[in-house]
Amino acid sequence: MKVLVAVKRVVDPAVRPRVRADGSAVDTANVKMALNPFDEIALEEALRLKERGVVREVVAVSMGGAGVRDSLLQALALGADRGILVETDSVLEPLAVAKLLAKLVAREAPGLVLLGKQAIDDDCGQTPQMLAGLLGWAQATNASELHVEEGTARVVRETDAGREILRIKLPAVVSADLRLNQPRLASLPAIMKARQKPLERHTPEQLGIDTRQRLQLDRLAEPSLKRAGVKLASMAELVDRLRNEAKVL
Ligand code: AMP
Repeated sequence: MKVLVAVKRVVDPAVRPRVRADGSAVDTANVKMALNPFDEIALEEALRLKERGVVREVVAVSMGGAGVRDSLLQALALGADRGILVETDSVLEPLAVAKLLAKLVAREAPGLVLLGKQAIDDDCGQTPQMLAGLLGWAQATNASELHVEEGTARVVRETDAGREILRIKLPAVVSADLRLNQPRLASLPAIMKARQKPLERHTPEQLGIDTRQRLQLDRLAEPSLKRAGVKLASMAELVDRLRNEAKVL
């Protein structure tokens, strides 16, 4: 079986994002970028399935503008067998990403598509569900365990009500939650060898997908700064402060 893993290039989670002065977008100029953390987890799970002999090939897919190739190289260094790059400078909304992925799924015929549960830049959490809808495939979102068995997958999801266990038919779309696994780091030799692995390039036009935006962003603003909290020694002090400083009692 082949697994397709969608990996997005996002602002490194350790970097504090800055909004452009005109409020049109997050400023990514000269900002350290990284693989979306949930996508690293999705990729790690695909690699583990391959190591267990359940999967024959892991194909990483990434879409976007300049720099996306570096993210794919990182995925190849981590162990993906080949990469597919969809190059575009347009903003890609989840529906456009899902349509592009559906097109690649039709070409590649994977038994499983793994994605992150959400991209930490737009926090949409929509692409996996839209992809499953477009394909008419079974889906399991926010997987914290994944067991692939004869033609099916058993997926554990941690919900507010407890552990939910789903059995879905393959082919399927599964999105990764934080606790699914702990991703590996790429070794230096693997980073060097990644450039020799196959990397295919497409554009949305070549794939016949219209990526025009359907949503209009009015303005992006940084959240207002929170005042630092204080730790009080006793309940009496809290009551005193509420009465005499905050004057709410
Ligand atoms: P989202 O719906 O935007 O929160 O993204 C959910 C998941 O879809 C991500 O974790 C990725 O696995 C995948 N995805 C979204 N955008 C892209 C992209 N531009 N390239 C590759 N994968 C993407």
